[in-house]
Amino acid sequence: MIIAMKAGVPAEDIANVVAKIESFGLSTVQMPGDDRIVVGIASSIPADVRESVTELMISLPGVDNVAQVSRSYKLASREFHAQNTVVNVKGVQVGGPEVVVMAGPCAIESRDQLFLAAEAVKAAGARVLRGGAFKPRTSPYAFQGLGIDGLKLLKEVGDATGMATITEVMDQHDVRAVMEHSDILQVGARNMQNFPLLVAIGKTRHPVLLKRGPSAGIDEWLLSAEYILNEGNPNVILCERGVHPLDRTYVRNTLDLSAVPVVKELSHLPIVVDPSHATGHSRYISAMSRAAVASGADGLIIEVHANPKAALCDGLQSLRPESFAKIMAEVKSIASAVGRK
Ligand code: PEP
Ligand code: MN
Repeated sequence: MIIAMKAGVPAEDIANVVAKIESFGLSTVQMPGDDRIVVGIASSIPADVRESVTELMISLPGVDNVAQVSRSYKLASREFHAQNTVVNVKGVQVGGPEVVVMAGPCAIESRDQLFLAAEAVKAAGARVLRGGAFKPRTSPYAFQGLGIDGLKLLKEVGDATGMATITEVMDQHDVRAVMEHSDILQVGARNMQNFPLLVAIGKTRHPVLLKRGPSAGIDEWLLSAEYILNEGNPNVILCERGVHPLDRTYVRNTLDLSAVPVVKELSHLPIVVDPSHATGHSRYISAMSRAAVASGADGLIIEVHANPKAALCDGLQSLRPESFAKIMAEVKSIASAVGRK
């Protein structure tokens, strides 16, 4: 349920609404709009009190209107929050007019490797440096990432280049350590429904990029976002990275680009696209990046490696710096054609 207050109401009217809701044992969330406050009831309202809560809310001073949120997710829904959410990552606005590009290696391998990639992607216009330290690998024998040492390198290179950073956190117990070293916490596709991890991230206020699970529907994905929002962290960025394909002969996953306009309709959260994991091949990144920006994505996350053949992870889909720079120029012209920066 959403209780929209009239513009410019005194604070005691809002406090009164909140107190009345809480007297039913329900929790509230407040969201400032353009010129007025919206109070939301985050918990689900038991059927036997729903009518009395609604009637009471309508009767309270300062209340403009009361509406029900029909979706299973509430805080992630556009019904709840009509305006686009903009997530501020160290001054970089994700979900605003700028198409924000995050780029860097799949995995952090060494200081030199990360510096080379960082300087190249920064020069080409990327705003956020990516690099995995905890890698979710299909095989236990594959390179698992440098762990804490990798996080330290990410922080060092991020600070030295002045770039914001993003890296994956796979375990709820690592959330603090990852937050201390990175500006965005990435929840990987395999962990989209790792609920203890989502709750732990929800208890922070750190920006988080929530990837869509390879077999997840859009409602399941938004319900995962809801776990984070429901703990009080509003800084959620969604990421479409391709879903399980019918055929792996040519691409690693199927990029579900229609998810972009669908999510824009259903939710106020920003959405970025990962054409690297979606296709699995560097030669398709250009087409899918352009298409993603044309479809309304708020950003891209792309894998770049100075020497893809030697990469310890995802070399096949990693772009060389020159190819990345070329794609950045192409994406820029698409962005301006669709009214973005
Ligand atoms: C990654 O970003 O390197 C990664 C493992 O992505 P995903 O979780 O989408 O597979
Ligand atoms: Mn990867």
